[in-house]
Amino acid sequence: MSLGYLAEMAERLSLPVEKINWAQDFADLLVPGKRICVTTHVNPDGDGIGSSVGLVRLLREFGANAIIVNPTPTPSRFQFLFRELPGVDRTVEAVKELRRADVIVVLDIADVDRLGMLSETVASRGVPVACVDHHISPGHLPAGPRYVDSGAAATGELIFEIALANGWQVTREAARALYVAILTDTGGFRFSNTHPRTLRIAAELLETGIDPEEIYLDVYANAPEGRPRLLAEALQTLVVEPECGLAWVTVPPGVVERLGLSSDDLEGVVEFPRSIAGVRLALLFREIHQGRVKVSLRSVGKVDVAAFARQFGGGGHTKAAGVSLVGTLAEVQATVLAAARTFLASDPCS
Ligand code: 5GP
Ligand code: MN
Repeated sequence: MSLGYLAEMAERLSLPVEKINWAQDFADLLVPGKRICVTTHVNPDGDGIGSSVGLVRLLREFGANAIIVNPTPTPSRFQFLFRELPGVDRTVEAVKELRRADVIVVLDIADVDRLGMLSETVASRGVPVACVDHHISPGHLPAGPRYVDSGAAATGELIFEIALANGWQVTREAARALYVAILTDTGGFRFSNTHPRTLRIAAELLETGIDPEEIYLDVYANAPEGRPRLLAEALQTLVVEPECGLAWVTVPPGVVERLGLSSDDLEGVVEFPRSIAGVRLALLFREIHQGRVKVSLRSVGKVDVAAFARQFGGGGHTKAAGVSLVGTLAEVQATVLAAARTFLASDPCS
């Protein structure tokens, strides 16, 4: 993309002055010669990985060097984004790399606690910690530039805006990664966060020549055999309470490991209880490490699952949120489902 074209795009997307200033604060920090570490939340999703790879690609175009260091490994589904990026995913040496960083960039979260095993290192480093995020939940991070807009469908959208505001060259490779970010966080451009500007940005990314079918195949049609088998086992557990519009599924303990899968393979499972007519709140329960249970929450209509998740210390978006709680599967289910029934009863609309 030429500079004139980028300026024209910035005008068409009508980036407010405030955002242009935020983007410039990023550009001032992310310069050649600095050791830049980019990180995102535990169990990174398509937006976490896509926006990270997208940012790294953009920075490399003008000679700034960045690596990716996450608290948990990159799911195999997104490894195709690293194909021509040897040595960029340094997650295995994350703490060591963070200790040498001049700048840390946190993407797709605004809370140091969501960095899992990297939280303490990031909190105590004393270097600027920049953040790009689209969640409504507040959080704490060490000081640094912020580019936060909960109106964006994906962090990848915001990375594109930063590129635009700074006139950074958006290559096909950067566009592919940002497209993955937006594609996955909008559920394939289906969720209510798919705004006109989301599609405008996606269109600009496609203009670079990336192939949407190829990306679809990489992200959604390259699953291990165990993935549909996992789906079959999880869906057997479906419970529906039509009177309050509640439905949930539970991942049978041990099944992810038995099928040789990872938590990323559970992506989308919660859409099945959500797809039932009359359901307003859908949940997915699964045991994670250390006596903790992760709950994924999705809503239909006006039910605000981010508000619901906050009662338990979780967060996310209005229609997609999550929380992880200490307890056995049965205990967490009893607590969360009781709260869900009360929550839905207090809002008997839709
Ligand atoms: P998922 O259910 O797909 O893991 O997450 C849905 C949304 O909720 C994402 O935007 C994610 O960032 C947020 N989320 C998931 N788990 C947690 C959590 O434990 N704490 C907070 N604050 N947000 C979460
Ligand atoms: Mn996101």
